[in-house]
Amino acid sequence: MSKERIGVMGGTFNPIHEGHLAMARAAMRSAKLDRVLFLPDSVPPHKKDIAPAEDRWRMTVAAVAGEKDFEPCRMELDREGTTYTCDTLLALRAQEPKAELFYLIGTDTLLQLKNWSRYEQVLTLCTFIVCARTVEGVSAAEVDAERRRLIGLGGRFLSAEMEPVDVSSTALREAIQRDEPTPLLSPAVREYCGARGLYGAAPRVPRAEKWLAKLFAELTPRRFAHTLGVAYSARALARNHGLDLEKAEIAALLHDCAKCLPLREMQEIAVRNNVTQDREILESGALLHAPVGAWLAEHAYGVTDPEILHAIACHTTGCPGMSRFDMAVYLADKIEPGRLAYPALTRVRMLAPLSLEKAMVYSIERTVEYERGKGHALHPQSLETLEWLKSQPENMS
Ligand code: ATP
Repeated sequence: MSKERIGVMGGTFNPIHEGHLAMARAAMRSAKLDRVLFLPDSVPPHKKDIAPAEDRWRMTVAAVAGEKDFEPCRMELDREGTTYTCDTLLALRAQEPKAELFYLIGTDTLLQLKNWSRYEQVLTLCTFIVCARTVEGVSAAEVDAERRRLIGLGGRFLSAEMEPVDVSSTALREAIQRDEPTPLLSPAVREYCGARGLYGAAPRVPRAEKWLAKLFAELTPRRFAHTLGVAYSARALARNHGLDLEKAEIAALLHDCAKCLPLREMQEIAVRNNVTQDREILESGALLHAPVGAWLAEHAYGVTDPEILHAIACHTTGCPGMSRFDMAVYLADKIEPGRLAYPALTRVRMLAPLSLEKAMVYSIERTVEYERGKGHALHPQSLETLEWLKSQPENMS
């Protein structure tokens, strides 16, 4: 059997951005890797403008959650004291003795290698995959000379075939502080930074530190990334439709807080607290997590605002008479940027910023069709919601 080929993507990830992901994708292709580990490094806590390790970890987990062969790894974060790449590679070798290790770096890091602790030993432990990055004031000839010098010391280097991605964490931190767009940061990571108030952004969600830690602990990585995407979209829709941005963000952050509980546990909460009596809802985790989520939002997260709690409670079935705020949260869940493509997605995304009511009708109608096609019926409350929505003035024209 051929050796497993493992990519190692180390970085401060302060924050993780599309450049890092593009490097990993290019390295997977160019060096035929089986998987890539993402290792946020540990940085002395007093270092200026570096987000706490757990925040960088959660952002890294969220950013790679949608990629099957990318794995976040806590090895450097969990090691005591200063971490050196040499120790990381030795530990990975001990852990994966049969694998071949490939360490991913940008051109700037190639030039810094000579300053790494025990760098000559590092050269013997992995093959470097270099991703092109412009380094201010350094010519291609100088980069090449350094590469040749390192090869002379036993280093092995491959080049990743990729278009350079002109982005750095430094530039992104500055953009976040100035509240400017960040197209090369994933919406989930941008949402995390904004809600939490990292990098000089004004903290938007008062209890974000506690809530994000709790959500991260209780949701799967994909669900956590989805939650951040929904909060990102809910804010955008709230802005489009003149709704309360902060409340929309809170409802979206908590909308799935019960989703990863075992059905038994959801049922116990529902029965003990008289959350619903509907048998069909009680039997289905896909439906029950909404009213149970609203109950948890109130009792475990301390939310008291009835508008927020209602939007969480009806985000799966909708309900006749639902408010435009409820619709924004419902639709944000359907269109968040990380959603895997489904047939109605493009049109719901197009309609939602224009008309919440029209987007709701289209979204529920397509879901009814889809479920009928599979021989399933939608919960009666969704059908009642659809009828009610169709009778609204916005949908009569
Ligand atoms: P900062 O701006 O804070 O220095 P960064 O964007 O360089 O951050 P790091 O987390 O320090 O990000 O980078 C980890 C690794 O990824 C380094 O080897 C770096 O050279 C490489 N890297 C980061 N961004 C790019 C990019 N856009 N193109 C190529 N390599 C990159």
